[in-house]
Amino acid sequence: MIYLDYQATTPLAPEVETAMRPWLGDKFANPHAPYRAGREAAAAIEVARGRVQSAMGRDDGQLAFTGSATEALNWAIKGTLAKTERTHVVTLATEHAAVLDTVEHWGKTHDVTVLPVKADGIVDLDAARDAVRDDTALVTTMLVNNEIGVIQPIAEIASIAHEKDALMLCDAVQALGRVEIPDGPDMVAVSAHKIHGPKGIGALWMRNWVAPEPLIHGGGQEQGMRSGTLSPALCVGFGVAAQLAEERFSEDHAHVEALWTAAMAELDGWQLNGSASQRYHGNLNIRRDGLDAPRLLADLRDIAISLGSACASGSGRPSHVLRAIGLEDRQARSSIRIGFGRYTEETELVDAMARINEAAAAQ
Ligand code: PLP
Repeated sequence: MIYLDYQATTPLAPEVETAMRPWLGDKFANPHAPYRAGREAAAAIEVARGRVQSAMGRDDGQLAFTGSATEALNWAIKGTLAKTERTHVVTLATEHAAVLDTVEHWGKTHDVTVLPVKADGIVDLDAARDAVRDDTALVTTMLVNNEIGVIQPIAEIASIAHEKDALMLCDAVQALGRVEIPDGPDMVAVSAHKIHGPKGIGALWMRNWVAPEPLIHGGGQEQGMRSGTLSPALCVGFGVAAQLAEERFSEDHAHVEALWTAAMAELDGWQLNGSASQRYHGNLNIRRDGLDAPRLLADLRDIAISLGSACASGSGRPSHVLRAIGLEDRQARSSIRIGFGRYTEETELVDAMARINEAAAAQ
């Protein structure tokens, strides 16, 4: 298989697997237990916490581990709205379902503004300024889009939110280790499995004075903010993945740029979806007139590419992101997403591009 679906998930780094192994074997103690083995596990979790926070570029504030970024985003949104008298929320039409569906759930009791994006996938800052009001509790926007890779002006959006004393939440799931996370947001959600870490763990970073109401109640772990026994193996794995992402940031970036250049040179008869410049270059979302994209994927079963977001694939619904940038349903259905990164070899990418071109031309 040639794996080109790095936005859906990334291969586990070998260093991460090695670091996790002891915590799945002999080192099985509960990290919340008072004896030595428990304290050792707790200490390993604290090291991991520091590494994740450092890779996020946050040297202040607090970081709580969660079961996924979906949980972190749910917690940030629900926990913030539960604690304020303000009843208005602003988000973007191109957000991940973890944000859009959560906000929509609150639409029953709250006023929700879903901002459109321009044809390049970027929000219009004037429209954002007009949307944020005195009763806005939360502005929630992503940094790097999972479907088309475009990068939103997060620092500017945070300033707009702060002008009205609203909180700003950033979904940085596709950004961590790939682009710098700007200063500005009050809460930032991330996920381990997008940075060559294990699945089943995410995190929410918060400023010290930001404390969303807990989503999960119980044993009072994570300083009472998020109950549930932490998994030392998952935390350690996330920590090592974060450390690698930070150490290899420039190297990974240069590799992705080289892959992007190689892939772009192979494009024949395709158009790029979303901005080419304000974009993370490990995401190549392209369309071709008249292409039956599901058939293309069926013809190339040994190449792992996607129709859009992994979550929307198979639902039969055209992607809400592609519709938001103004594509007609037929254009959205003629689009594919090719995602690459640290472990992608240029030769396999070029080989896959040639086969994709060939299969598309043969339709
Ligand atoms: N936000 C974005 C932009 C994503 O791409 C994803 C995963 O696809 C999520 C949130 C959810 O992350 P998790 O898989 O950790 O729940």
